[in-house]
Amino acid sequence: MKIHIDIDCFFVSAARIIDSSLEHKAVAIGGRSDTKIFNKEAKNQTVNLENSGSFVPTFYKAYEDKDDDLDAFKDESGKVRGILTTSSYEARAFGVKTAMNISEALSLCPQLIIKAPNMSLYQKLSHALHQFLQLKIPLIEQASIDEFYGDLSGWVEDEDVPQFIDNLRHEIKRELKLPVSIGSAHTRYIAKMATSAAKPFGCKTIYPYEFDKFINPIHVEKFAGIGKSMKERLRAAQIHTLGELRKRRGTVESWGPYAQELYKRVNGTSDAPIITSSQRKSIGISRTFDPLHDRTELKRRVHVLARHLSFAILKLEVIPTVFHLSIAYEMNQKSHKNISLAEIFTEKKFDSLCISLFHEADVHKRLHVIRLSINCSSFTRDSKKELSLIGFCDEQKMKKLTDSAQSLREKYGIDAIKWASEM
Ligand SMILES: [Mg+2]
Repeated sequence: MKIHIDIDCFFVSAARIIDSSLEHKAVAIGGRSDTKIFNKEAKNQTVNLENSGSFVPTFYKAYEDKDDDLDAFKDESGKVRGILTTSSYEARAFGVKTAMNISEALSLCPQLIIKAPNMSLYQKLSHALHQFLQLKIPLIEQASIDEFYGDLSGWVEDEDVPQFIDNLRHEIKRELKLPVSIGSAHTRYIAKMATSAAKPFGCKTIYPYEFDKFINPIHVEKFAGIGKSMKERLRAAQIHTLGELRKRRGTVESWGPYAQELYKRVNGTSDAPIITSSQRKSIGISRTFDPLHDRTELKRRVHVLARHLSFAILKLEVIPTVFHLSIAYEMNQKSHKNISLAEIFTEKKFDSLCISLFHEADVHKRLHVIRLSINCSSFTRDSKKELSLIGFCDEQKMKKLTDSAQSLREKYGIDAIKWASEM
C-alpha cells in the first residue's frame, strides 16, 4: 500500500517544540511575504539550500525573537497587516483559518497568540523527518516541506499496515516531537485523502472493500487537484461530491486530458510511483507586496529578485534553460511569459532576460501589481555540446565576472554586490 504522511499544523507544531507553553493554546503563525529584500539597505538575507525540493522557500530573513511582537505585523500607520500561514486546531475552533487576515483572526479569537515564521527551524525539522522516514521505509518521497509519500508494497503486508503506520506516528512524536497524521490506501491520491480524514494526529487505512463508502460522500473541493475553476465547472454540472463525480465519467472525461486524469485519481484507478530522488527540478523566487503601480519601482524589484535567484542558481551549480516570469495584478488578473534559452548562465544576461520578460508580461499597465515571480527550470549540464556556441567566448568572459561576484557574495552575503539599476 501507499502511505501519505503530513505534519499537523506544521509551523505551529514547530513553534511548540521551541516553546512548550504554546501547547493546547490558540496559536497562529503570521507573516507578510518577506518584502524586506526590496529595501535599498537590505542586508542579513539568508539562503538555505539544504533541502532540495523546489517547495522550500529559498530566501528569508533570519528569524529574530522581536518578530513575534504584534508590532512587527503593523505598518507605518499602526494597522495590523499580513495573513496567517498556519493555525492550531484550538484556533480553528474559533473559525480562524489559513490565509485569513491577522486582524480578522484577532477579532474572532482575541486570545490568539501570533508567532513569526521561522523558516530555518522548519527546514531543519523537515529534513530531520525526511531522514527518519528514510530509515523506516525504503521508498520515501518528499512532496512538500511537511508532506511525504511512501510505498509499503513488499515491505509491510497489507493487513499489517494500520499497525505499522500507527507505530510510526507515535515514534515520530516521541523522537522528533512532531505530531503527524498518516493515511494509507492502494494509490497515493487516496492515501492523501485518508490523511485528511485522520487529522489531527491520527491514522487511517482505506482498503479496497471500503473505498466507495469512504470516497463517495467527500466534497469535490477536498480532493487535491480540484481547484476553484474545476469546482465551478463541476458545480455547473450538478456535481458536488466525489461519488457524483464518479457517476459522471462521460461528462468529466469530455473536459479534456486533465479532467480524464482527475477522474481516474478520484476513482482510485490512477497512481504514480514514489520518486525518492530529491533532484531539484526547478528553482524560483516570488514576492507578494502591497499593490504597486510605479513601473520603475517594479522593474527595480525584478532586478532584486533576479539577483537573489541568480545567487541560488550559481550556488546549486545548475544551468536552467527555461525562464518564466509571472505577474499577479489586483482584481485577480494574471499574466506570464516564458522563454527557452540554452546558453551559459551569467547573472548579467539573466538580469536583462528577466527585465525583458517583465516588459512582455506586463500587459495590464493600468493595474497595480501585487506579486512578481520568476521561475527557472529544465536544467542542463554544463557542456558546450548542449549549449549554444554563438558568442561562446564573450559568454566565457561574462561567466568569469559572474563567478567572481558569486564568490564575494558567498563570503559577504547576497547584498554585498548589487546592480546599479537597483539603486
Ligand atoms: Mg501539514
